[in-house]
Amino acid sequence: MEKAVSNHSPFQGFWVWKVSSLPKVQVFLWQCCHQSIPTREVLAARGMDIETLCPLCRSAPETIMHLLRDCPSSKDFWNSSPPPPVDPDCFYGSNLMDWLKLNCHSSHCSPIHNIDWKIIFPIGIWNLWLHRNAVVFNNGRTRGSVRTNTISQAMEFAFLGLNMQHPASRHITLVKWTKPPLNWYKVNSDGSSLGNPGLAGAGGLIRDATGKWIKGYARAIGVTTSVAAELWALRDGIRLCIALKLQAVVFELDAKLVVDMLKKEDRSSNSNDNLVEDCKRGLKEIPMVLVQHCYRESNRCADALARLGAHLPQDFVVFLDPPLEVSPFLDADATDTLFNRSVAAVSSV
Ligand SMILES: [Zn+2]
Repeated sequence: MEKAVSNHSPFQGFWVWKVSSLPKVQVFLWQCCHQSIPTREVLAARGMDIETLCPLCRSAPETIMHLLRDCPSSKDFWNSSPPPPVDPDCFYGSNLMDWLKLNCHSSHCSPIHNIDWKIIFPIGIWNLWLHRNAVVFNNGRTRGSVRTNTISQAMEFAFLGLNMQHPASRHITLVKWTKPPLNWYKVNSDGSSLGNPGLAGAGGLIRDATGKWIKGYARAIGVTTSVAAELWALRDGIRLCIALKLQAVVFELDAKLVVDMLKKEDRSSNSNDNLVEDCKRGLKEIPMVLVQHCYRESNRCADALARLGAHLPQDFVVFLDPPLEVSPFLDADATDTLFNRSVAAVSSV
């Protein structure tokens, strides 16, 4: 049985950010390494009163290792022809951390369309997790099998990320979060709306010039549009900076439309006017201000806080310390992790 990893034990999983995969899959790997995938066994270990048996086979506790490898349904996936190009004793005999690392660093090529195993594997475990959630939460309704989804996503990733024979159609830029200048602070804010309009949250965080966490915040908004959620997130960030009497602040958000709204003087009437005006007024109260657009890939701490906000039991929370949901992204930013961003070559983004 796996042991929960304490927050204080030295963590050896930073390699996950270098794995050649989609950002959401890298995050999933990071959570696997931290034993924080909410399988039934993990939830029970955290004190939740819950049945620990695997919901798929009901024959063993649902540990992360069971879910991703040892459950009969996962074995079916791994053994479906062709099997992993890794020694079976190693594949089925190693512990979770070794297993993840071994497969994510494999130099073998899979016979499946000649795609590298290190590309197929992480996408495979991600799809096993999605499938499990579909069984638990959606009565098993899924689009496609784990195998077909994994192969098509791995092919797409290999094509977009690695196939340089088509440089004219897409190219990959590397993006990362950057620290503000000396003596400046940076606010990253984001809004999240599940559907547009839909149940929305807002959130953000303030870091100093060394990248240190100053404060974070999240807000439950109720049903609104994504633009309104972005504006709420910015407004809360501005208010917090004013309360903290910060003198020089860079505000960074991934909604280009909102950045443009703040820079424009025009007063074309729309439903967000009050929020826009409130943000503009607040920005004037801070002596030195810069508002800039960033890519989504470098705004993931704020995104995590916004998603947290959508499900808050209260209206607004200020976090003195980073919540667990944000930690992986904070670590990634602090270690200057570069993320792939696929950009259309002709786009003006
Ligand atoms: Zn099972």
